[in-house]
Amino acid sequence: METTKKCPHYKKCGGCQIHNLEYRDQLDFKMKKVVRLVGRFHHVEYIIGMDNPYHYRNKVQAAFGRDKQNRIISGVYQSSTHRIVPVDECLIEDKKADEIIVTIRKLLKSFKLKTFDDNRMTGFLRHVLVKRGFLSGEIMVVLVTGSEEFKSKRSFINALLSRHPEITTIVQNINNKRTSLVLGQKSIVLYGDGVIKEQLCGYTFTISPKAFYQINPVQTEVLYNKAMEFADIKKSDIVIDAYCGTGTIGIIASKYAGQVVGVELNKDAVKDAKKNAAINNIENINFVCADAGRYMVDIAYEGLKADVVIMDPPRAGSDVRFLKSLVKLSPRKVVYISCNPETLARDLMFLSKNKYKVRKIQPVDMFPHTEHIETVVMLTK
Ligand code: SAH
Repeated sequence: METTKKCPHYKKCGGCQIHNLEYRDQLDFKMKKVVRLVGRFHHVEYIIGMDNPYHYRNKVQAAFGRDKQNRIISGVYQSSTHRIVPVDECLIEDKKADEIIVTIRKLLKSFKLKTFDDNRMTGFLRHVLVKRGFLSGEIMVVLVTGSEEFKSKRSFINALLSRHPEITTIVQNINNKRTSLVLGQKSIVLYGDGVIKEQLCGYTFTISPKAFYQINPVQTEVLYNKAMEFADIKKSDIVIDAYCGTGTIGIIASKYAGQVVGVELNKDAVKDAKKNAAINNIENINFVCADAGRYMVDIAYEGLKADVVIMDPPRAGSDVRFLKSLVKLSPRKVVYISCNPETLARDLMFLSKNKYKVRKIQPVDMFPHTEHIETVVMLTK
């Protein structure tokens, strides 16, 4: 394990809530929390940490603004405020992405481009978003601007590319709303094809500016491999990947299964999921755009069956409609991937009272230095 590094921005930034602890102690801290919340259901395996818990983020976002001396700054919002803490190097972000953001800041000055002023709602550059495929090497830069007009656009892009020829695509996204969301509705591709590709568990996935994609690629493989081990899918199985996002888990599961159905509420994610299945030439998978609970009620009602359900809900966890229909559908196995042990505990309580038993609990450290905890759970009838 790497020796402990200390971040000078730790207190002001607030993004890494437990950075004050040694990495070993962070793992113990998370472990204690999982045991406290779900230990009553089953023994909890020790959390799988990272060998090198630094610079793991493949997606980096920086806000642009000015300091009191009117100098251009870029960095992160201090937690729950609108104040920008200037950050050039972050211990958990991809180093290359951070370098590109610093270059853009320097270029703004030489091109006399303005940063966006949130109060007056005037100016130009609001945020920069960089996504990098750690395995593919592809890099996407998204310039989020308050207006569409982009002075000296061509020369700016050429200057950026000459300093970072490794960038494979550049997108301008226009966000002229008073909002805490980073991205606006409209995107214009300025260079390359507007998306990057990345490999995960031997498959290729397309990542667009808005699509959700796991931010720690090393631990995502660890997590998904655990989920597949827990699912133990047979060739004749019908598998449901509920809350499937862009289809990553379902696509990985398709290799072992007879048939897979991915269910997802966000229609852009469903579009990406279909494209991802096509890129990988997968024929035994379908995607449905629906509320996962609603979909499960419908198929249970139609008398259809599922052998294995893999579920990966957002932080709010699942809901009673989903859980009730899950019980009615009665799959042999349920694999629950959770990014919030509090809602996991609530949902496991429901399933434990309704004919399922927890068989394994494995936390995985997807977000070193932060308080976030990912857990994968196996349940059988
Ligand atoms: N399994 C994916 C994404 C998990 S994130 C991955 O690992 O990449 C959770 C996903 O659940 C999001 O894509 C969100 O849009 C979706 N979602 C949220 N509520 C939902 C609901 N009620 N029904 C179906 N999908 C939902």
